Amino acid sequence: MSDHHKTSTRLYTEDEMLQLSGIQHYVFCPRQWALIHIEQQWTDNSLTTEGTLLHENVDNPFLRETNGSQTITLRGFRLASPVLGLSGIADAVEIYPHENGPTSKQALLKSKLYDALPIEYKRGKPKITDCDRIQVAAQAIILEEMLGIKISKGAVFYWETRHREYFDISDELKEQTIKTASDMHAAFNNNFIPKAIKKSHCKNCSLLDNCLPSLKGRSAVKYLSDSIESIYETV
Ligand code: SF4
Repeated sequence: MSDHHKTSTRLYTEDEMLQLSGIQHYVFCPRQWALIHIEQQWTDNSLTTEGTLLHENVDNPFLRETNGSQTITLRGFRLASPVLGLSGIADAVEIYPHENGPTSKQALLKSKLYDALPIEYKRGKPKITDCDRIQVAAQAIILEEMLGIKISKGAVFYWETRHREYFDISDELKEQTIKTASDMHAAFNNNFIPKAIKKSHCKNCSLLDNCLPSLKGRSAVKYLSDSIESIYETV
């Protein structure tokens, strides 16, 4: 168990688990997450439909495979964490055996002589927010708990650019992820739906039509004052 986990005193029950994939929605926009996960609204736009189709291929548990090298790739790997209170599925986890590790897969997994790399598949290209990285960091924290190893790297594969972006899962990113999960639970328990604040990435939001009509018909001054109020409410 890592030092991050030792500092946490709260363990969530199975009934309290929130969707792991929701953490990317929350980081993208807390209102979007609340509309989806508290108000249960979901509108497929072309971005989410393509994203779902991509995940249907990647999240197939029968596609667990080796790629001819020493690397073992686990696809559609189920994850749950009482520490974060999140559960879901990792698109792919690559297992890299250490040089002195056993050759049998069973013995290798027991030995912990390997590194693990969580990889998330995304339809688009790298985003301006940290939402994709935080989703992978959450997977890393859960894998650390489940496998008893330390994970320091993650990756996101972007379908549009056909590019796998690697990044460090630093202690800072892990702390940010733990805080975000805790904020999600607080919002969920309080049924808190943040007010709409128009941002540049609203145009890529699957809930644009459900969310932003509430902004129409308001004067610029009212819109600004509501936005400022909302900023203070969500800090
Ligand atoms: S339209 Fe904008 S403010 Fe509304 S949920 Fe989407 S990202 Fe958030």
